[in-house]
Amino acid sequence: MPYKNEGVTDFSVEENKEAMLRALEQVRLEFGRTYPLCIGGQEQITDSIIESRNPSNPDVIVGRVYAADEELAGKAVETAAEAFDSWSRKSAKYRASCLVKAAAIMRRRKFELSATMVYEAGKPWLQADADIAEAIDFLEYYAREAMRLHKGGKVHPYPGESTNYRYIPLGVGAIIPPWNFPSAILTGMTSAALVTGNTVVLKPASATPIIGAKVAEILYDAGIPGGVLNFVPGGGSTVGDALVKHPLTRFVSFTGSLEVGTHIYESAAIVREGQHWLKRVVTEMGGKDALIVDDPCDCVLAADAAVTSAFGYQGQKCSACSRVIVVESVYNAFMKELMERVSELKVGDPEDPDIDMGPVSSDEAYEKVMRYIEIGKEEATLAHGGGRVGKIGYFIEPTVFVDVDPHARIAQEEIFGPVLSVIKARDFDEALYIANDTIYGLTGGVITRDRDHIERAKNEFHVGNLYINRKITGSLVGVQPFGGYKMSGTCSKAGGPDYLLLFMQPKTIIERL
Ligand code: NAP
Ligand code: MG
Repeated sequence: MPYKNEGVTDFSVEENKEAMLRALEQVRLEFGRTYPLCIGGQEQITDSIIESRNPSNPDVIVGRVYAADEELAGKAVETAAEAFDSWSRKSAKYRASCLVKAAAIMRRRKFELSATMVYEAGKPWLQADADIAEAIDFLEYYAREAMRLHKGGKVHPYPGESTNYRYIPLGVGAIIPPWNFPSAILTGMTSAALVTGNTVVLKPASATPIIGAKVAEILYDAGIPGGVLNFVPGGGSTVGDALVKHPLTRFVSFTGSLEVGTHIYESAAIVREGQHWLKRVVTEMGGKDALIVDDPCDCVLAADAAVTSAFGYQGQKCSACSRVIVVESVYNAFMKELMERVSELKVGDPEDPDIDMGPVSSDEAYEKVMRYIEIGKEEATLAHGGGRVGKIGYFIEPTVFVDVDPHARIAQEEIFGPVLSVIKARDFDEALYIANDTIYGLTGGVITRDRDHIERAKNEFHVGNLYINRKITGSLVGVQPFGGYKMSGTCSKAGGPDYLLLFMQPKTIIERL
């Protein structure tokens, strides 16, 4: 069957709404359960526990996982190394069929998985559903991509010889995903490495280990052997660090912050005792993504795009719009539309399907965003929000700063919360200059009716994913490959035709005839 994107759920259909409400109830009954750490198919009990709390109500423990230490991390890498021989020799078809099976299980468990993310990650219904749809897409897409690459690459013939150019797996991978797409990104990173014949140690983000444990369970149920996928929750600076350093680790696949990604890049570059290769590092990091609002443009479209991109999932997407750069001549018209929409956003517990924004992910995230709001009040003018919503839970109002200097901290540093900086530009030239003038280069967009400006943006706006006359978030697997430039990372283009090559190495075989 040809690949196609998984559809999103329409919750205005009563049957779907009922199914989601039942799933939420079911997940509530699971609260407090402890999920296993799994090495070589053996469940491990440790003395250390990670408690996963509901950001809407931190008194609620969604679940617990056993956490590893450095020693167990080492054991997991060694177990994955032992499993490599047999897994790397399985056919591409065998491995791809495990992914297709996992996608089928995920479809059956869709509502339950979405409900888990409502509680564990504070995802509103639609965002949780989209996260699962994306995870399913990764499984289906990478399964087909592995079958395509299995045929090898084309080389020119040479008289008297037969040449074969094929792709083989790398070895053991450390898979270190973030919490913000706790199902999609974790599933994509893990399945890409597995389907290409590698074995992995998966360390989920500590804020969202329960959804991670459920995805691991699905992959095991789909036929991935225990030694091939080792599920090892634990602290980033302990377990994550140990996985990166281990001499048997052949590659690291990381998605997360600039600070941690840079540290991993440096650490993996050191050749440790007993190491027989240079480690490959895929590191996808943050953004300071901008939407340019040009003259002439449709200000209604611009405001819709800005609000969806800035405040969807509370601004906690790497692709989130954190800067709107508005050409002076449309400033007043655009701001009127923008502020109307922002003031209508409803913040609340995502258990309720009618809210627009849930909580930020954790106590730390809350403190960080609030610190930036204080910085913003010094640097710029607060035009909306800035405060906490409610007494429990990490709810923050959608926040808009205006009169922001392009070099202000709130215009340069990733805040990763519902904070939007509005910057005024004289003209399109200046807007483009400001948009590019950061260390990041992940997503960006332009709302304009000027064809010349569209062409210039295509050539001059230096971002991995450029969106014209639409929102700048929500890339589709297989349709809009995703990844950024500069300090946004290694531009791996997840969900694209080049992604799986990052987890393989080509071999050239020449036989004299
Ligand atoms: P993070 O703090 O960097 O953590 C990411 C992962 O790294 C977690 O599993 C974390 O474990 C682990 N980690 C932390 N310190 C480590 C260390 N010293 N060695 C090895 N691993 C370590 O990022 P986050 O807060 O989870 O995610 C948000 C960030 O991800 C944002 O910057 C966002 O822009 C970025 N992001 C980028 C993309 C993209 O495609 N470019 C996509 C999504 C998110 P613990 O959880 O245990 O600390
Ligand atoms: Mg973190």
